[in-house]
Amino acid sequence: MPLYAYQCSCGLRFERRRPLSEASSPHPCPSCQTDAPRLPGEVRLAYGTSGAKPGPPRPGNTGLTGIDDVPDRAIGASARAGWEVARQRRRDKLAVLAQNPGTDPAHLRNLGDHYAVMPGHEAAFRERADRMVNPARDALTEAAKAARP
Ligand SMILES: [Zn+2]
Repeated sequence: MPLYAYQCSCGLRFERRRPLSEASSPHPCPSCQTDAPRLPGEVRLAYGTSGAKPGPPRPGNTGLTGIDDVPDRAIGASARAGWEVARQRRRDKLAVLAQNPGTDPAHLRNLGDHYAVMPGHEAAFRERADRMVNPARDALTEAAKAARP
């Protein structure tokens, strides 16, 4: 029996094996029981009668949204969300720097939901730590570069 894909209005995309004669009729959504229309063109054929699925394995559908059966789009949405977090952090940092002119951006501290300028002793500690760690880090980076073929 061919395998058909259905898209429910609740967002769930699912596949069902059905006889050709029932191909065009909607199928009840396994999540909300609404009749879901078939996605045109989305059909896979099973060879033989053993029920073996041809083709490479496909990621399962979590049923959370209509896009999660399309990995590229799901990854794209995840990346967009990540970039938006990064852009918001940058805006927050720039706002703090604007309120505190002359502050070294390295002396901003992430306090979970906002940024603040480090107190002087913390900034001094950070400077000392950087002076100790940076040469070692640079030496390791150079050694790694030299070791590359
Ligand atoms: Zn549904």
